Amino acid sequence: MQQIDALQPDRTAMAAMAGAVTDRVLTALNNPPPRLELAGPAADELTRELLQPPAEQPTELGPLLSRLDDVAAQSTDVGDAGFMAYTPSGGLFASALGEFYARAINRYSTLTVAAPGLAAMEYGVVRWLAEVVGLGARAGGLLLSGGSMANLTALVTARYARLGEPGPDTARGTLYVGAEAHYSIAKAARLAGLPSTAVRVVPSGEDLRMDPAAAAAMVAADRAAGLRPFMLVGTAGTTATGTVDPLAELAVLAAREGLWYHVDGAYGGLFRLTDRGRHRLFGIERADSVTVDPHKSLFLPCGTGALLVRDPATLRAAHMVDGACLADVPDHPDLPDLSDQGPELTREARGPRIWLPLHLYGVAAFRAALDEKLDLAEQAHDALVAVPGLVAPCPPDLTVVSFQLRAAGPDPRSIEAADAANAHLLAAVNATGRVMISSATVAGRFTLRLCILSPRTHAGHVEEAVTLIARAARSIHPARGVGRVFRASTG
Ligand SMILES: *Cc1c(COP(=O)(O)O)cnc(C)c1O
Repeated sequence: MQQIDALQPDRTAMAAMAGAVTDRVLTALNNPPPRLELAGPAADELTRELLQPPAEQPTELGPLLSRLDDVAAQSTDVGDAGFMAYTPSGGLFASALGEFYARAINRYSTLTVAAPGLAAMEYGVVRWLAEVVGLGARAGGLLLSGGSMANLTALVTARYARLGEPGPDTARGTLYVGAEAHYSIAKAARLAGLPSTAVRVVPSGEDLRMDPAAAAAMVAADRAAGLRPFMLVGTAGTTATGTVDPLAELAVLAAREGLWYHVDGAYGGLFRLTDRGRHRLFGIERADSVTVDPHKSLFLPCGTGALLVRDPATLRAAHMVDGACLADVPDHPDLPDLSDQGPELTREARGPRIWLPLHLYGVAAFRAALDEKLDLAEQAHDALVAVPGLVAPCPPDLTVVSFQLRAAGPDPRSIEAADAANAHLLAAVNATGRVMISSATVAGRFTLRLCILSPRTHAGHVEEAVTLIARAARSIHPARGVGRVFRASTG
């Protein structure tokens, strides 16, 4: 009896457990790891211990929470003020609390009749997100785990809408992405059973934006060859440089060619909350579907993406299959079941984690935070181009600032030397443990980047990053250091 009841603590025990967890979390949040770095080798003692199976007999909560403390101390804080690598994730505490509440009450939001309030909360959030990106009041969509799942769901929806029920002909479907598009689109195509040749990579112009004329020519050639173009994907903020494709021109092309127009705004789409973002994302409002990642540009903890669609009926058409075991479940008149909109049936209720912070802080707070990040990116760009030896070929569209040490000349040997010097610069900056930046291959060149998106990153942190970059750049001066690095790295 005792062991069975062990799974059901009483109210007093629950309060003690929750209090202990809160206490640990607040301690962890207020004592970040002293150095910002990627965790060390995987085979350390903690890893070995965590890989062990659970014991038959109970362990006290305290020691178990200590393991979680160890996990927190040993991992990279991707929402740290100095974290400007990859794409930061803010991890708003209020979101975690909304999540905790939803998990603790554990209602079944997948079927609207079982938890109409939770379904409404998710639909309310989704409709607001769709309004933010300009898809209009009739738009819909659903919350997913991230941008990759949203892009996959978009691709499946687009193919169904344009090519119909999958058949032998489906394999002749083609889609068009920019050279700088996120690899999750190619992954989605593969998961959806398309051959890798179905993903047509449209070249970019000098400015790294997809070239609409080149896209039009590829679509025409593919049609002439008997292929079935069905989807055009623009990117609203590429991962490498934060560049926004010419979204309005791509909308015209998609409409003329009858292609489904998807915009991958996982990183950048929600900058449309700001005036500058609205201006720079002009044309996104004409998409058939848009991916956004609240775990990036709404500062949520990792695990929340959204697919927004102009016509929600297209989502249902692509995903709804009559489920025999749920035949006795009545439909809700206004809010269709979330399970009919996407790939998942049972899932966590994803509304509270975004509804709570949005209402608690108000939309203006998010708009102001994004505006601040845009300011910081402009300042970082201006400061970096003023550093001798550094170039930043494209001013930031959003909050990714890309830069590199200038090559001594246009010849392959100088380029190779500059790439090696840039890798050296990256390592030197990250070795400080004060900030973390990352790299990307842009137009074949090893390029460095800052992505300013943590809600904790303010002017002082960006100034420190620029100072550390400038100091490292001086120590790797192209005239001397580059040649040395080049020789060292090529033996
Ligand atoms: C981050 C990102 C993705 C992938 O999103 P996940 O949430 O990591 O799955 C896709 N596209 C773009 C442009 C991104 O920035």
